[in-house]
Amino acid sequence: MGRGPMTCAGGLLILLSASLLGMAGARQEASPSGDKKVDATVRRLISAVEPARMSKHLFYLAKDPLPFRKLNLTLPGHEKNTLYEADDYLAGQLESWGYRVEREGVQVQAFRRDTSKPKQAQYSPPKPEDPWYTAYNLYAERKGRSHPERIILLLAHKDSQSWIDSPGANDNAIGTVGVLEVARVLANYEPQSTIRFLFCNEEHTPWTSKTAAQKAKERGDNIVAIINMDGIGAKTAEQTGADKKTNVTAFTKPEGKALAELMGEVNARYSIGLEQRTAERSRPGDDDGSFVQAGFAAAVVNIGSWPYGDPNYHAEGDIPERCDVKNAAMTVQATLAAVVTLDRSL
Ligand SMILES: [Zn+2]
Repeated sequence: MGRGPMTCAGGLLILLSASLLGMAGARQEASPSGDKKVDATVRRLISAVEPARMSKHLFYLAKDPLPFRKLNLTLPGHEKNTLYEADDYLAGQLESWGYRVEREGVQVQAFRRDTSKPKQAQYSPPKPEDPWYTAYNLYAERKGRSHPERIILLLAHKDSQSWIDSPGANDNAIGTVGVLEVARVLANYEPQSTIRFLFCNEEHTPWTSKTAAQKAKERGDNIVAIINMDGIGAKTAEQTGADKKTNVTAFTKPEGKALAELMGEVNARYSIGLEQRTAERSRPGDDDGSFVQAGFAAAVVNIGSWPYGDPNYHAEGDIPERCDVKNAAMTVQATLAAVVTLDRSL
């Protein structure tokens, strides 16, 4: 992920409004209005989330056999670079659950590294003469039964940092694995709307989510909700030490705020147990920001902390052993609940 600075004052205001919204959500809970069948379906789906399976994918993508996922690194004796190998793994998993995977090629470069900058911000622009690569956006979807034209989009960037040898476990193998787990659980769910999954690239330049968003705009896609997963369950050392299970849903536009509030509602309704709050971005950012900039306002990111508190952000120490998979699995459950609730309410 790559995000701009945030003011502390803004953060406090957001905390305050998030707690007020949380109270409103709790009051709604006292008088359930949804039909019981919907609740049973959501409960069945969220109980199908498997942290052990997520952990297996995470270690595959961020340790062994793939220590990195970048276009400018091919392991000795291997034919494909590590990002293409990750693509093959993700596509193979999706296909094994019955999805058809589409690839969209985008021309990108690796970032250069500027060691004079702080560790988390050492990416620097490539020179025109640096190599160009084709990075792929991977798409899979479940077609909606009654409203196939309405699209709910889940996305995550799957690449690791191109300028440094970081496994990118929290940033963002864990979000990749999260979207993958949602896709697996929804493989046997008949949605009313189309539920689309996008695995993109954000640690090379330009971000391939920009192409994905522009193409969606050109096609006139009716995307009613966009949920990015980036750094789910990743937080400060202090929060980790206290075994906090956190999620922040950050939005840019009012349409995104409504979606962010839904995350809090379902977290309470289904007793998922996250310390869940919302935050307002000062400007579009990350891969959800690519969609906001293309005109899709109902876009949010689920992230473990805001501002992002992972002490190993963009560093070699961002290893899978330091991911809180249990926390990430709870975020996946809340995301699943939000997606299915939204699907049933459209
Ligand atoms: Zn990043």
